[in-house]
Amino acid sequence: MNYHEMNERQVEEALNTDFSAGLSDEDVGKRVKQFGSNELEEGEKQSALLLFFNQFKDFMVLVLLAATLISGLLGEYIDAIAIIAIIILNSFLGFYQERRAEKSLSALKELSQPQVQVLRNGTWEKVLSKELVPGDVIKFSSGDRIGADVRIIESRSLEVEESALTGESVPVQKMTETINNPNLTLGDMENMGFMGTMVSRGSGIGVVIATGMKTAMGQIADLLQNAESQITPLQRRLEQLGKILIVTALALTVLVVGIGVLQGNDLYTMVLAGVSLAVAAIPEGLPAIVTIALSLGVQKMIRKNAVVRKLPAVETLGCASVICSDKTGTLTQNKMTVTKVWSSGRTWSVDGTGYEPQGKYYENDQAIDPKNEKVLQQLLTFGMLCNHAEIEQKSGEYVLNGDPTEGAMIVAGMKAGYTRSKLLSQFEIVNEFPFDSTRKMMSVIVKDTTGRQFVVTKGAPDVLIGQSKTILMGNRAENIGSREKNTVQAAIDGLASQALRTIAIAYKEISANTIILHEKEAESELVFIGLQGIIDPPRPEVKQAVRECKEAGIKTVMITGDHVITANAIAKQLGIANSQSKVLEGKELANMSVQELEDVVDHVSVFARVSPEHKLKIVQAFQNRGHIVAMTGDGVNDAPAIKTADIGIAMGITGTDVAKEASSLVLMDDNFASIKSAIIEGRNIYENIRKFIRYLLASNVGEILVMLFAMILALPLPLVPIQILWVNLVTDGLPAMALGLDRPEDNVMKRDPRSPNEGVFARGLGWKVISRGILIGLSTIAAFMLAYNDNPDNLAYAQTVAFATLVLAQLIHVFDCRSEKSILSRNPFGNMYLVWAVLSSLLLVLVVIYVPALQGIFHTVAIQPKDWLMILGLASVPTFLLAGSFLLSKSK
Ligand code: ATP
Repeated sequence: MNYHEMNERQVEEALNTDFSAGLSDEDVGKRVKQFGSNELEEGEKQSALLLFFNQFKDFMVLVLLAATLISGLLGEYIDAIAIIAIIILNSFLGFYQERRAEKSLSALKELSQPQVQVLRNGTWEKVLSKELVPGDVIKFSSGDRIGADVRIIESRSLEVEESALTGESVPVQKMTETINNPNLTLGDMENMGFMGTMVSRGSGIGVVIATGMKTAMGQIADLLQNAESQITPLQRRLEQLGKILIVTALALTVLVVGIGVLQGNDLYTMVLAGVSLAVAAIPEGLPAIVTIALSLGVQKMIRKNAVVRKLPAVETLGCASVICSDKTGTLTQNKMTVTKVWSSGRTWSVDGTGYEPQGKYYENDQAIDPKNEKVLQQLLTFGMLCNHAEIEQKSGEYVLNGDPTEGAMIVAGMKAGYTRSKLLSQFEIVNEFPFDSTRKMMSVIVKDTTGRQFVVTKGAPDVLIGQSKTILMGNRAENIGSREKNTVQAAIDGLASQALRTIAIAYKEISANTIILHEKEAESELVFIGLQGIIDPPRPEVKQAVRECKEAGIKTVMITGDHVITANAIAKQLGIANSQSKVLEGKELANMSVQELEDVVDHVSVFARVSPEHKLKIVQAFQNRGHIVAMTGDGVNDAPAIKTADIGIAMGITGTDVAKEASSLVLMDDNFASIKSAIIEGRNIYENIRKFIRYLLASNVGEILVMLFAMILALPLPLVPIQILWVNLVTDGLPAMALGLDRPEDNVMKRDPRSPNEGVFARGLGWKVISRGILIGLSTIAAFMLAYNDNPDNLAYAQTVAFATLVLAQLIHVFDCRSEKSILSRNPFGNMYLVWAVLSSLLLVLVVIYVPALQGIFHTVAIQPKDWLMILGLASVPTFLLAGSFLLSKSK
C-alpha cells in the first residue's frame, strides 16, 4: 500500500483510525496482538547454558580437570570427584556473577528506551516507543527520533534528517500533501517519516503506518548492529593486569613445584598441588566481580535518578573536576510564574503561584483590571497566541503540557481573564517559526476574523529589541532610538536583577495576502510591546549540592541562554558565583578562540546568553586546562558538546532523543543534585573495586607464599589440593562481592577528584597487597610449623591448622580492605553483607573441619579448642600489626 499516494481521509480509513482522538485502548490491545511490539530484532543473546559452559573454558581450569581426571584414573576417586564438584561449584558462582552482570546491563537498556507522545482515547500521552502500533497518531519535534514509519498529517516547518536510512545528510522538508507517483525512493517521500530518523527542525504529527521489522529501518536492521564498547578503562587495565597475574602466578607455581620436587616430594602430588594453587591464585573471578560492582553501582545511581548509558562513565564520574550545568530546569525548578509585566515605562505585578490561574494584577500596589489597559491586553494575548503550551485541569490540579516558559505566559493571560481557545477562535494561526536556542525567539503568523494578518514574535528581549523598529508607548508606536533602547534595557536589567527571566513580545501587521516563508522576513521591523518577567525558583537541594561538590574539588559552572543579570543573580543565590568570579557572555565567547578562552576559563562561573554552539568551545577550553568535564544538555545542538565532554549528561524529562543518544548519563529528574549523587556513587564504585582487588590479590599472594615458604623450608605440603581449592571458593566469592557493595568512606567527597591516569595500584594499594600478602603467608606457615612441631606424626592436623589460619587471616583482612586508613577507622558492622558473607564462609570452613563425613574428603582433622587461640592470634597478625603501626603513626 502506498500511503504517500493517499490523502488524509484515505489514510485514516486504510488504517481504521481517528486522527482527532487516536486509537482506543481496546484497538491498541488488538493491534499489539496482531502486529507485535515495535522493536527491531536483536542478535541472539548468549544462552544460559553457553554462559555456564564458558566458565570451563578457562585454561587453568581445563588443566585442573585433566589433572583430576588422571588422579581419578590413578584411583584417587574421592579426591577427583571432590575436586570436580568444587570446580562445578566455582563455575556456578562465576555463572551466577556473570548472569547477574548481564541482567543488570540489559535492565539498563530498558531504562534508556525512548518515549513517544501518542494520541490515545482523545488525549496525548507518553508511551515507550516499542508500544506503538499501526494507526497510532504521534507527535514529534526538533531533536526527536521518529518512533515508527508514519504518514505526516501535520507539519510545522518540519525537517527531518534521514541519513541513517538514506545516507543523505541534508534534512528533508516534510509536508502533508499527497504525492501521486508510485515509484518514489524513500528520500523523495516528503509526506512520510521513517523510524529512527531525526527531526532536525520544527514539529509535526504523523500516523503510524508500520512498526518493528516492517519499517524501512527494519528492512536494513542487520546493518545497524552497532556494538559500542562497554568496557571501562579500569576493566581494560585489569585485563592487562590479569595477564601479568596469570604469568606471575604460573611462574611462582612452577617454582613451588620445582623446589618441592627437588626437596624430594612426589612429582605427581606436587603437580596436582601446583595446578590447584594456580587455579586458586589466578583471580579469574575478578572481571565478573568488577562488572557486578559496576552494575550494582549503576543500579544505585538509578535509584538516585541518574541512568548510566555508557558503563565507562561510571569511572569517569569519579574523576570529574568541572560540572557545566544548564540553568533552567537543572539548577532551577522550571516551574515558571510570571510575576512582573512591563510596557511603555509602566510596571505591573501579578500574584499567585505555580500554574493555577488564580491571581490579580496590581500597579503601584493598587489592584487593577488588566482588560482596561490596552497595552497590557496586547502583551498578554499575544503572549498566549505565540505559544504551544496548554494548561489542563487534572483531578483538581492545574498541570502544564508543554514548555514551562510558555505555560507561565498562558497562566498570566488566564489571570487576566483570557483563554487560548477563545483567542484561537478570533485569530487563526497560519504559519509558525518554532523557537530555537540560537535565534532565541519564535513567531506565529495569525489572521483575525476580518482577514488582517499579523506576525507575533516572542523571545529574549535584548534580541527582540534589535529586531524592532518601533516601540509602543501608551497607544502610539514611536521609533526606537538610543533613548528608547536605554529605557528598555533599564527595564530588562531591573527585572533580571530580581532573578526574573525576561521574555519580550513584539508584533507587526502584514498585508492580508502576504505569504512569509522565512523567519528572517517575519522577525524584523517589529513593533516592541513589552516584557514579561518570570520567576523560576532555584531547586532547594542545589545549593547544598554545589557546596559538597566544591569541597570535593569540583567546580560548578552555569551555562544558560538566559540574560546575564538573571543568570548571575541565581548563580549567587546558589553559591556558584561570588563577587570575584567572572561572567562571560555568548557574544564575547563568539569572538574568542579556544586558546583565549583557556586563559580565563578557570575564573568563569557563569556563561550567559550562550547558544548551544558555544558549549563545545567551553568543554574544549576546560579540557585543555586538564579538567575532566561533565556537561549537561537537552537539545539537538547540544549533542556535539555532550559527546565531546568526558561525561555527557542529557536531561531525561526535557532532553531530546539526540541529546540522550550522545550522552553517557541521563538525569531522570533533570536535577543538578542527581549529578552530585552520581559522582559520589562513581567515586565509591571505584574505591570498592580497589577494595576487592586489594583483598583478592593479597589473599592470593598469601596462598602462594605459604606453599613457597614450605618448600623452601623443606616442610611437607602445608595444604592439600582440595583445601587450596576450598579456600579459594569460600574466600573469593561472597566476601569479595560484599566489598563491592560497601558504603563510601566518610571522606569520599572531602578529597579532590582522582586523576584519570591513576593506576590500579596507586595510593599505596600495591604496598598493601604485598605487605598483607606476605604477612598472611608468614602467619599461616607459622601456624603450620607450630602444629607440626607439636605433633610431627599427624601431618593432617597441621594441615588443617594451616587451612584454618589461612582462611581466618583472609576473613579478618577483608575488614581491613574497607578502609584506605585502617580497620580501626570503620565500624565492622557498617557493611552487613560483608558480615554475613564472612560468617557463611566461616561456617563452610568449620563444616569441612568438623563434619566427619567431610573430613575424609577434605583430609581434615577436628581442631582442638586450645589451638583455636593460636590460630586466631596468628590470623590477626597481618591486619592488626599494620593497624597498630597506623595507630602509632597517628599518636605521634
Ligand atoms: P538554559 O538555562 O537551560 O540554557 P534557557 O531557557 O535559559 O535554558 P534557552 O532555552 O536557550 O535558554 O533560552 C534563551 C532565551 O530565549 C531565554 O532567556 C528567553 O528569553 C528566550 N526563550 C526561552 N524560551 C522561549 C520560548 N519558548 N519562546 C520565546 N523565547 C524563549
